[in-house]
Amino acid sequence: MSSKRLHLTTGDIVFREGDPPTSAYLVESGQIEILTVKEGMPMVLSVLGPGDLLGEMAVIDDAPRTATARALNDVCLIEVDRAQINERIDNSDPIVRALLKGQLTRYRSALQALRSGEAPMLRAHAHPQACDADGYDDQAMAKIHLETQLRDSLTAKSLEVRFQPIYEVREQRISGYEALVRWTHPVRGPISPAEFIALAEETSLILPVGEYVLDRVAETLAKLADQGVSPLPFIAVNMSGRQLAEADMLGVVTMISKKHGIDARSIKIEVTESLMLDFEKVGELINRCGDLGIKVALDDFGTGYSNLGHLHKLQFSTVKLDQGFVRQMLHAPRCHAIVKAIVQMVHALDSDIVAEGVETQEQLDALAALNCRYIQGYLIGRPQTYDEMRGNHGLT
Ligand code: C2E
Ligand code: CA
Ligand code: CA
Repeated sequence: MSSKRLHLTTGDIVFREGDPPTSAYLVESGQIEILTVKEGMPMVLSVLGPGDLLGEMAVIDDAPRTATARALNDVCLIEVDRAQINERIDNSDPIVRALLKGQLTRYRSALQALRSGEAPMLRAHAHPQACDADGYDDQAMAKIHLETQLRDSLTAKSLEVRFQPIYEVREQRISGYEALVRWTHPVRGPISPAEFIALAEETSLILPVGEYVLDRVAETLAKLADQGVSPLPFIAVNMSGRQLAEADMLGVVTMISKKHGIDARSIKIEVTESLMLDFEKVGELINRCGDLGIKVALDDFGTGYSNLGHLHKLQFSTVKLDQGFVRQMLHAPRCHAIVKAIVQMVHALDSDIVAEGVETQEQLDALAALNCRYIQGYLIGRPQTYDEMRGNHGLT
């Protein structure tokens, strides 16, 4: 935030009621009184001291000052620029913005009532131009609505889990799957998991969604085992940072595996590296998974935040090469060289590699020539239902 300091002495005015909002202020030292006028008489609303913020309300809803701020003694203030505040609000969650707006509206209504001696209005629209115009409300409401519907679909068990085959190139067989969750919204139709998983991750809703996926995965493995499929394919499950941070994530995996009578080692965990991950925790979790024989894959390797430091410290058993590389490797020699180097590096770490997004035979051939062990993509198969995946294992 801005480091502009203002030094005031007793009686100095910071701003007056009715002034346009230019900045907010943080009290560093001294005291400020906030005054309004009631029935022609000045009335002190509050006294602020070090660490308190003042003048932020008018800045947030872009309305004239509703009170006067005056120094009670020697005061030092840090000025916080209006643009900085607005930028932070614009970048915040629409639900938080709507909550803030609700509180401001209520505060202004109460203040007005206090001044006039009337009861506060139930729905005060003191400054209808503020916040409303930029659609904060609509976005926030849409998000709350979508989250509620996702919760309902989860309760109704109408989320679907599809299984995308993972193909072992040399053996020419499907040796595993990745579980991918699907949500068909009652009105909007299918919604991309990229959208609704991100929404679920903003709250703890991702935890029951993750448990639901694990439950479907274990149930599917049990059904395949019942049908005599051997060796049983593995199924990889995506886990978000929030799920990994959950204290007993592994306990949940073990409990669900027991419930369905399957070997937990048939479940793999896919983790996407991000700045949000708590690496110490993830490292510990990977080691505990290792003790139980559960493999952990590093997802989307080579994009965004790929840190080789983490790759050598964390005991990933598999690295999944992001689709972007596969898409470009046949046209861009430098990309081909990077894929070759990544495959060699992963092998040198004694880990497996899965190349994602393989859509053509040429891509498969190029990856096979580089000794890439596993591939995944539309060439082998799209995410499948249980009935479709049965066919891969000779079941009718
Ligand atoms: P991801 O883990 O990278 O999953 C692979 C995505 O690539 C999937 O998209 C898959 O359908 C798509 N894909 C696979 N093969 C091809 C191909 O050959 N070409 C192209 N163009 N795309 C291909 P999807 O299902 O939309 O999933 C998007 C992301 O949502 C996933 O990315 C994953 O991060 C997340 N996700 C999906 N299911 C779950 C889940 O159960 N839990 C969590 N935490 N995240 C999930
Ligand atoms: Ca994945
Ligand atoms: Ca991926």
